[in-house]
Amino acid sequence: MHVSDIKRFLRCPRLYQLSLETKTKFHLYFNISTDIDESIAKKLNIEKYYVGITNQESSDTLLVANNYNWIFKARFSYNGLRIRVPLLYVDGNNCDVYSIVLSTQALENEGNNMAYTKYVLEGNGLKINNYYILFLNRDYVYKDKLDDDKLWILTDHFIKDGRKMGNIHEYVDNISLNLDEIIYQMNKFEFALPIRTSKCTSRNRCPFYEDCFPLEKIISNNSILTLVSSKYKYDMLNDGIRYLKDADLDRVEGNKVQMAQIKADRNNGLYVDEKALKKWYGQLELPISFIDFEWDLFPIPPYNDMKVMDVLLFQYSLHVYDGKKLSHFEFLGEGDSREEIAISLLENIPKKGSVIAYNATGAEKIRIKELANYFPQYSDRLLKINDRLIDMAIPFVTGLVYDTRMRGSFTLNTIENMLDEKHSYDDLEVSDGMKAVEIYREMIICQDEIQKQEYKKQLLEYCGLDTYSLYKIYKWLNKILSDR
Ligand code: SF4
Repeated sequence: MHVSDIKRFLRCPRLYQLSLETKTKFHLYFNISTDIDESIAKKLNIEKYYVGITNQESSDTLLVANNYNWIFKARFSYNGLRIRVPLLYVDGNNCDVYSIVLSTQALENEGNNMAYTKYVLEGNGLKINNYYILFLNRDYVYKDKLDDDKLWILTDHFIKDGRKMGNIHEYVDNISLNLDEIIYQMNKFEFALPIRTSKCTSRNRCPFYEDCFPLEKIISNNSILTLVSSKYKYDMLNDGIRYLKDADLDRVEGNKVQMAQIKADRNNGLYVDEKALKKWYGQLELPISFIDFEWDLFPIPPYNDMKVMDVLLFQYSLHVYDGKKLSHFEFLGEGDSREEIAISLLENIPKKGSVIAYNATGAEKIRIKELANYFPQYSDRLLKINDRLIDMAIPFVTGLVYDTRMRGSFTLNTIENMLDEKHSYDDLEVSDGMKAVEIYREMIICQDEIQKQEYKKQLLEYCGLDTYSLYKIYKWLNKILSDR
């Protein structure tokens, strides 16, 4: 049993049970191209250290501690609970615990993890003298080579938004967590039925949601359960209200999107705020450029001028519509291709007309700004693209248009699949942004040229479909307005 199992059990016993039965593939959110143990050893001037190995027993780790004071990935177990301490300093029966976090903050949740470490280490007869967190320095900028000393910050206090908070040792000592009792309950636990609680959807939606509530997958497009941000949709369903059109308005929060959903169902499935949509659409100028970027996230910067937690742009797709003809441009790089991307984009994107992206403000606009910061020589031209950038998500997320086939979802993927069932993301090997990053990482290390070309093809198809989808949505909105 691992700490993650206990956390799952505390969130929901059924979640714990299902996760034991299902091997879910773990996707690493970050691209880590640096040997973190080596970097920390340099930071702390550790000359001699040992790196623990998977499934190592406590007794073996304690034996190792006879010869090494410093142990990375130190494995221990106690009462069936297995832990891996990121870095341990051991001197006889005394030790210091170091957490290593890929974050620019040292938050209390790391202290909560340390409570499990304390339970297991004390169970193995070790006395913890100090707790430390090593986290990333948000002001660090990579220049020519990694400066391990400046990259990491060592603290025995929590640090939030640059401010020093409580002492870690005191915090851990004050956590009351009866792990003996929890582990006993887990061991004798047998079966749990699904019970819907806020834990099913709060923060991250539970990965077993569809297993627990399969009927929701087959609900009709206009089901009351598609009502977004609704506190009372299940109550309404239990009271016999099955469809959006019959929603009890006293139990609807009444935001613009919810009202658009209800009106759409009362109006054969489509609602359009004609005046507002006309105004939004009226700002679009030909030629229209539809753009989409793909990028990877690096907690430890690998290239010049990148800060910690910066992203590395590796691909763009651009469809250009001049009113008659649709043209396509694209770029897919490897390694540090930031400048090539900037040059290629500037070469291919028209100098006038509107530029459209989906969720542009939170993504494409920021990526272009970053390119402008990296390359001041292109800055003016890049920032002019941002001046023309318009977010295609706005008509949907602000309730100007709602089609019940969206089923309460506002992603580009959903809208594309709604408009063209034949030509959809479901047919592609890469069907979402996470998968694109996964394939990109495979592609850059792939030694087999044929397989590499296949990865490239998949990435180009995916990004290309994103911008083609934007074009199709544009045409669809155009048709909606011209049909009125
Ligand atoms: S969906 Fe809810 S009931 Fe089902 S496993 Fe997840 S948290 Fe538990």
